[in-house]
Amino acid sequence: MRTQVAIVGAGPAGLLLSHLLDRAGVESVIVETRSREYVEARIRAGILEQSTVDLLREVGLGERLAREGDVHRGIYLQWPRERHHLDFVDLVGRSVTVYGQTEVTKDLGRAREAAGQEIVYEVTETAVHDIDSERPYVTFTDADGAAQRLDADVVVGCDGSFGPSRAAVPDPATWERTYSYSWLGILADVAPSTDELIYAWHPDGFALHSMRSAKVSRLYLQVPNGTDVAEWPDDRIWDALAARLGHGQDGWTLTPGPITEKSVLPMRSFVQQPMRHGRLFLAGDAAHIVPPTGAKGLNLAVADVALLAPALAALLRDKDPALADAYSDTALRRVWRCTHFSWWMTTMLHKSDDPFDAQLQLSQLRWVASSTAAATGLAENYAGLPFGY
Ligand SMILES: Cc1cc2nc3c(=O)[nH]c(=O)nc-3n(C[C@H](O)[C@H](O)[C@H](O)COP(=O)(O)OP(=O)(O)OC[C@H]3O[C@@H](n4cnc5c(N)ncnc54)[C@H](O)[C@@H]3O)c2cc1C
Repeated sequence: MRTQVAIVGAGPAGLLLSHLLDRAGVESVIVETRSREYVEARIRAGILEQSTVDLLREVGLGERLAREGDVHRGIYLQWPRERHHLDFVDLVGRSVTVYGQTEVTKDLGRAREAAGQEIVYEVTETAVHDIDSERPYVTFTDADGAAQRLDADVVVGCDGSFGPSRAAVPDPATWERTYSYSWLGILADVAPSTDELIYAWHPDGFALHSMRSAKVSRLYLQVPNGTDVAEWPDDRIWDALAARLGHGQDGWTLTPGPITEKSVLPMRSFVQQPMRHGRLFLAGDAAHIVPPTGAKGLNLAVADVALLAPALAALLRDKDPALADAYSDTALRRVWRCTHFSWWMTTMLHKSDDPFDAQLQLSQLRWVASSTAAATGLAENYAGLPFGY
């Protein structure tokens, strides 16, 4: 097989990159370890920044998003006995939209299918070769067990945190922070008890009330690393959520419902740079991981490929390497901004074992909730900086 751009991974980064490249007249082939059904059902992120929404709209992926996405003006920040609304639209003129990663992936899958995009699902033993040459290639075993080789001008690793592309970069610089807590996340078939997300600091640990639709709630509890979901029967989860989210406070109530999904998500920050070596480019989780507190993971993947697609089009179509040469440095500016913001939100809101930290966190929360200058900083980062920042 031969193509211009070989893309490893059909997550949001890989699918959107192929869509953007197609619009720029550049062909690509995607290889993916999972089945299409698995990729489209994978429950992960759910908050789209303004720039992500604008881009999806601009490239013909905004129809269902406009119909089913829920535009939020801001978020609630909370600690015991206090809840404050931060209005991003008033503060920075930008909003966020609740629309699940599952839905983004389905929209992309349908658009790619309609365009005749070649996506090879259920491959194994993916490996990236000759990235220092102008003829890199990817090898893999297809679903029938046949060995395959995909030759390309460029390979893009969009294979997330466990894929092989990252390891193909020789001697990268890496930074990592592992947090001492995880999130126990649930999906529940119950209407959200709030109109916008509630981020709650609590002496028992952080809690977040999010949602996926008018009928489906997504909620999270801070739990220690290594927590087994079996230790958390449904009643225990709802009791902890009620306590941490302030059930009964100022007449607010949390309505429980049937839990349909339960999982533990470890919290980690990771950055690998450069995001390019020779003819291999990295995008999305393949190059960086953020803890989900700032809702940045999916948005960063989108921002990477929004930058990379025109760079590859200029390189391959116009033989102009300037944007491709600048890709890693330009992308990393935003990556580090989002890495800092995600760390900042995480450390402001999660219980640590140090009572001094708790006082600092409360002081910071009071400041963010009462100072327009502080709230504007949070709003600008949460609703998202423009692409190219
Ligand atoms: C469990 C979990 C929960 C999350 N929850 C949230 C959240 O609540 N909020 C938030 O903002 N973000 C969340 N994130 C982060 C967000 O989902 C990611 O940042 C986003 O999916 C990044 O997209 P991506 O395309 O770069 O990577 P991915 O979505 O990981 O896609 C990578 C793709 O590459 C494929 N792949 C891997 N190895 C190979 C291989 N060897 N060959 C071929 N294909 C391969 C994978 O199957 C996958 O389809 C979560 C992430 C995880 C893992």
